Amino acid sequence: MAKTVIIATNNAHKVEEIETALNFEGWEFKSLKEAGIESSPEETGTTFEENARIKARAVHELTGAAVLADDSGLVVDALNGAPGVYSSRYAGEDGNDGANNTKLLHELEGVPDEQRSARFMCVLVFIDEDGSETVAQGSVEGRIGYELKGDGGFGYDPLFWPECFNFECTLAEVTQENKNKVSHRGNALRELKKVLA
Ligand code: IMP
Repeated sequence: MAKTVIIATNNAHKVEEIETALNFEGWEFKSLKEAGIESSPEETGTTFEENARIKARAVHELTGAAVLADDSGLVVDALNGAPGVYSSRYAGEDGNDGANNTKLLHELEGVPDEQRSARFMCVLVFIDEDGSETVAQGSVEGRIGYELKGDGGFGYDPLFWPECFNFECTLAEVTQENKNKVSHRGNALRELKKVLA
């Protein structure tokens, strides 16, 4: 019998990435919209895990179904971990990537190369029909550049130079397929798949 898993997001790209990564036999995925859920809870947590859990629990309590939620963001060492859980609203307005990148560059003015280390982090919380929980996380290490470079990806990608590509390009300069192979979300999904298998 098919198992329905609601992905607690309306981001079509995330739904597709998760569907491809967790290709378990008999699993069927639905976005929030497809599950008929219009509201989303306020992300009041102070960690990625707390926020992912808030999103997953809210949908599980509404539906009783299995749910997968994620939370992710950028952690910059020289800024004591900022923007962290505030990554999407760093400059004030939710999801304004341009303003967020401008603010990040401003905050790092005068900070030398070796102190511009950073990582993207992702935490996934999976809640099964019976309420049991599985948590997986992933990250990708890199450095913050000095100007935007590349047209791909989203968010802070044009400022992020991954170590795994020898700091030779930004995450906005690689194909989606290559990004998924090294990204925080890709790594978290591979980890979750291993634990659930
Ligand atoms: P969320 O997990 O979709 O809420 O993402 C939070 C924020 O973190 C996004 O709005 C971006 O600013 C940033 N972020 C998360 N993942 C990525 C990524 O893969 N590339 C660039 N920015 C990201």
